[in-house]
Amino acid sequence: MKQNIIIIGAGIVGLATAYNIVRVYPNLSVLIIEKEPDVAMHQTGHNSGVIHSGIYYKPGSLKAQNCTTGYARLIEFCDQYNVKYEICGKVIVAVDENEIPMLDGIYKRGIENGLENLRIINKSELAEIEPYAAGIKAIHVPQTGIIDFTDVSLKLKEVLIENGVEFKFEEKVLNIVHTSSRVNVITNSGTFSAEKVISCAGLQSDRIAKLTEKNLELKIIPFRGEYYELKDSAKHLVKNLIYPVPDPEFPFLGVHFTRMIDGKVEAGPNAVFSFDREGYKKLSFNLKDTLDSVAFKGFLKIAKQYWKTGAGEFYRSFSKKAFVKALRKLIPEIAEDDLVPGNSGIRAQACSSDGKLLDDFYFVENSRVLHVCNAPSPAATSAFSIGESIASKLNLRNT
Ligand SMILES: Cc1cc2nc3c(=O)[nH]c(=O)nc-3n(C[C@H](O)[C@H](O)[C@H](O)COP(=O)(O)OP(=O)(O)OC[C@H]3O[C@@H](n4cnc5c(N)ncnc54)[C@H](O)[C@@H]3O)c2cc1C
Repeated sequence: MKQNIIIIGAGIVGLATAYNIVRVYPNLSVLIIEKEPDVAMHQTGHNSGVIHSGIYYKPGSLKAQNCTTGYARLIEFCDQYNVKYEICGKVIVAVDENEIPMLDGIYKRGIENGLENLRIINKSELAEIEPYAAGIKAIHVPQTGIIDFTDVSLKLKEVLIENGVEFKFEEKVLNIVHTSSRVNVITNSGTFSAEKVISCAGLQSDRIAKLTEKNLELKIIPFRGEYYELKDSAKHLVKNLIYPVPDPEFPFLGVHFTRMIDGKVEAGPNAVFSFDREGYKKLSFNLKDTLDSVAFKGFLKIAKQYWKTGAGEFYRSFSKKAFVKALRKLIPEIAEDDLVPGNSGIRAQACSSDGKLLDDFYFVENSRVLHVCNAPSPAATSAFSIGESIASKLNLRNT
């Protein structure tokens, strides 16, 4: 079966890439190959549902650029196709004096990243926005929003099908082979041939990349994020989104409170090393995934660097009391009894062989295959912009 373009992965990055390709090249044939029965079954359907403003990211980085543009494109798409979202704003709160320099640094970054109407607020201004939040100083970020990225993905699927994009679900990519003029994608059920292949395989992106980039020294290290849900009786404690000042040594934002678009209020996610890339339960274990992580030469360096934080995260994963203690820094009134276990998601975090957790989005390409190798948060917010830049460099004839 011959296509112009094959996209591997029907998460939001693959779908938004297809969306941008059909806009630029309406006559090209595009096939999306996905191993699951539907779209958004991994990171995209297991995330916090936050439309990030772009405040945190290093100015000029791919995260900063794509988050800002992706934010605008996502809203345009949702307005055009009636996907529900809400721009409710969030607060980032410093709970003690030590956190204030970091909070001020985040504010400065936000300004450098072009965010308008950011406000540094004091305790009483914070109380007007989030009456139950602790904090001696905070940033109010009015741009932050909430959405269900599965809804966005399902709408994308519908629009793509209307535009002639073909989907093959329950089709697992096993190999990618260059021929003299094309590239063959071999799955569990057949071979598909294309001029270009784009891999947006999330938690499996390193394995797919290795099929064509044998010397790639990069590994996906999976970090599970677990959530609790607030019982109805405690929902009044959170108006919108309450975030801590993040640990500058760690690439995740810290447990926070999020009002979801469906009315739930979630607390989390933590970040625990996962023994299974696609296992969402606390005790999920996959031998291949575990060996793959621990045998990687960068892993030991990461373990050495983060063992203390990692041990704390494991402890909080198994002790609700410890999890709630972390949450109480943000809302002192929250009690263990206010929370019930919620969902979980697994982050695909790329790690280099010298033991660095890659901070920015990262792509590897050859003449016919482009691999999205690191697309962690805020890649759901950024997906339309990532897709736009991939489409713009495809350099294909518009047949
Ligand atoms: C806990 C958590 C909270 C987050 N919160 C936010 C947030 O609030 N806001 C935000 O912007 N971002 C957030 N993120 C990040 C965001 O969810 C991801 O960056 C984004 O969803 C990545 O999309 P993706 O399409 O690259 O990957 P995925 O959604 O993981 O999709 C990859 C797809 O590739 C498929 N695939 C893999 N291997 C193969 C194969 N061999 N053959 C065929 N198909 C294959 C998979 O089945 C999967 O469907 C969060 C992530 C997590 C885990």
